[in-house]
Amino acid sequence: MIVIMKPGATKEQITAIVNRVKKEGLDVQLNDGKEQVVIGLLGDTTKLLDVAFNSYEGVENTVKITHSYKLTSREFHPDNTVVDINGVKIGDGSMTMMAGPCSIEGLDQIMECARMAKAGGATILRGGAFKPRTSPYAFQGLEEEGLKYIRQAADKFEMQVITEVMDEANLDLVAEYSDILQIGARNMQNFKLLQAVGKTGMPVALKRGISGTIDEWLNAAEYIAAQGNFNVIFVERGIRTYETATRNTLDLSAVPLIKKLSHFPIIVDPSHGVGIWDLVPAMAVAGVAAGADGLIVEIHPDPANAWSDGPQSLNEKTYLNMMEQVHIMENAMQEINKIKTV
Ligand code: PEP
Ligand code: MN
Repeated sequence: MIVIMKPGATKEQITAIVNRVKKEGLDVQLNDGKEQVVIGLLGDTTKLLDVAFNSYEGVENTVKITHSYKLTSREFHPDNTVVDINGVKIGDGSMTMMAGPCSIEGLDQIMECARMAKAGGATILRGGAFKPRTSPYAFQGLEEEGLKYIRQAADKFEMQVITEVMDEANLDLVAEYSDILQIGARNMQNFKLLQAVGKTGMPVALKRGISGTIDEWLNAAEYIAAQGNFNVIFVERGIRTYETATRNTLDLSAVPLIKKLSHFPIIVDPSHGVGIWDLVPAMAVAGVAAGADGLIVEIHPDPANAWSDGPQSLNEKTYLNMMEQVHIMENAMQEINKIKTV
């Protein structure tokens, strides 16, 4: 349930509601929006069914939220959330670009990737130091050494870092070097890890699970938000379907759907979405057309010799060409957004 206060409701009127809710042992989360304050009631709201909140002064309306996620919902937070990563904004209407290799392979490699990424307009450098590989015998990442390299490369090119944290044990370490914590598809429902990244208050890029439904994904975000962390970025990276011609099936309908149901921004990962490099540009452009707040793309100076995900990585030439296409669609979207009615 949420209690929507009238525009201009006083502090005392808000406190009266908060105290009434807390008296029943429930918790609250306040959203101080542009127009009005919305109070989210967290816990067993059946205890409050008899309370006539609408007759409290300053209350405009009460709305029962039927989904199990509350803080993540549009009802609770009607305005878009803008995640600010040291000045790089995601969700403010701009298109934020993240690019880099699947795995950090060494200092020279990540430096070269950072140079390429930046040349295409990326402001955030991606690269895995802890790699969730299907085979236990495949390269598992350079771990702390890799984190040091990506930080160095990002600092040199004045970029932000996004890298995956695979477990709670390495959270402090990853947080020390990264600006965004990436939760991989395989960990979308690792609830303890979600709570732990929630507690850091840091920006979290939450990838959609390999077979994650929209509802499960929204609830995963709720685990982070419930810790008071509203810096969540959804990442659509494709889901497993019967189709095997592409690595995954990139579900672009998730973009407008997530935007309808939630206030958190959503970006698209066409690289893992299709797994085939020459299909990546078309799906990147399509992601922007679907309304994504950004893209995350794998690039490599020599994809044929990449230590992981070479087949889906773009070389410099194809990446720069893709970015030209993306910029054209970005501009078209500015026009489209002016006439959009839904
Ligand atoms: C990655 O970003 O390299 C990665 C492993 O992604 P996902 O968790 O989406 O498979
Ligand atoms: Mn990868």
